[in-house]
Amino acid sequence: MDPKLINDCVHCGFCLPTCPTYALWGEEMDSPRGRIHLMKQHVEGTPITPEMAGHFDACLGCMACVTACPSGVRYDRLIELTRVEVERQHVREPQDRAVRGIVFSLFPYPRRLRLLRPTMWLAERMAPFLARANPSLGAMAALAPRVEHRQRLPRLVRARGERRATVGMLLGCVQREFFPQVNAATARVLALEGCDVVVPPEQGCCGALSVHSGRDAQARRLASRTVRAFERAGVETVVVNAAGCGSSMKEYAELLGHEPPFRVADLSEYLAELGPVAKRHPLPLTVAYHDACHLAHAQGVRAQPRELLSAIPELELREIPESAICCGSAGTYNLLQPGAARDLGDRKAAAVGTTGAELLVSANPGCTMQIAAAVRRAGGRIRVAHTAEVMDASLRGVTL
Ligand code: SF4
Ligand code: SF4
Repeated sequence: MDPKLINDCVHCGFCLPTCPTYALWGEEMDSPRGRIHLMKQHVEGTPITPEMAGHFDACLGCMACVTACPSGVRYDRLIELTRVEVERQHVREPQDRAVRGIVFSLFPYPRRLRLLRPTMWLAERMAPFLARANPSLGAMAALAPRVEHRQRLPRLVRARGERRATVGMLLGCVQREFFPQVNAATARVLALEGCDVVVPPEQGCCGALSVHSGRDAQARRLASRTVRAFERAGVETVVVNAAGCGSSMKEYAELLGHEPPFRVADLSEYLAELGPVAKRHPLPLTVAYHDACHLAHAQGVRAQPRELLSAIPELELREIPESAICCGSAGTYNLLQPGAARDLGDRKAAAVGTTGAELLVSANPGCTMQIAAAVRRAGGRIRVAHTAEVMDASLRGVTL
């Protein structure tokens, strides 16, 4: 690791109030500044101890500290490189190893996830029993979504009306198998706004989960395959509707050591840039918009989804207090660190509750599942949707 990245930190502590783990536990070593201090010790020769690994594992990778830091510290890069070291040097407990083994041999592989689809209805009921055996397995089962019918997108979705652009579209792994309606809505919205949407069938996982977990070799392999798929498709822009995938793909140059032959844009970022042509039909709804960390902090995309939602007639947008604090979902965090994730989910659900909104919208199904589960735990209910689904309903003039 480049010590300069570490030395950029001037220990000012401006990042501390935005760090979810520091907010939970008030421990310096569970703050960005404390973790950077541990990284420095390691770079100066201290081997990674189980205690150090615990502090690094507890980091959500939410990047709120990157937004807050006035000195431009690249904590995102620092924690990614540190996680690679943790995976190389730290010997995990057998249970932790087993759970990680399940997570990383399952989630980046859409075909394996597909095999789980028929069992999803059972998962929520099994959650209390699994939780007794292992909290991570319990969390995995409790968060299992009710899956919709599989909707296979064609290789090309043609623009409606005059074609204004051609874009590629990433399907994602969890998105493709468990939230196919979000991908279908994304393709329809892009087509209604005048885009030919190219969906290369050979695309797989983008590598986001692996890169965020220090699984360097797996991340590179998956990223290279994704680059090849979209390179063959010949598109200049790849539109992504999952915040974690988008943020990783925007960093392919750092991961692979060369620029990919396309640029990556989040759906809301791309639509805002393209400008509207399709008519917006009214949606009389109160909506709380949740900033997914990998969209707001990692990609700096905050204004565009709010602009898109606010432009829908009769839709009332409400802000969630403490919007910069992570909901605890954070990729696989709610599976690997279920206790902290649960506490953060409860905190976020309470904040969402103060808005009185009837619909919770975000650009990341992981976040909405996590918050909806916390709302249910508190005895409430809230409907959830992806930004793409709200736009789709308004553009087509259907109810949500
Ligand atoms: S990434 Fe999030 S959890 Fe990790 S140190 Fe930064 S603010 Fe804290
Ligand atoms: S990471 Fe940035 S904000 Fe946090 S202590 Fe270091 S310099 Fe200050």
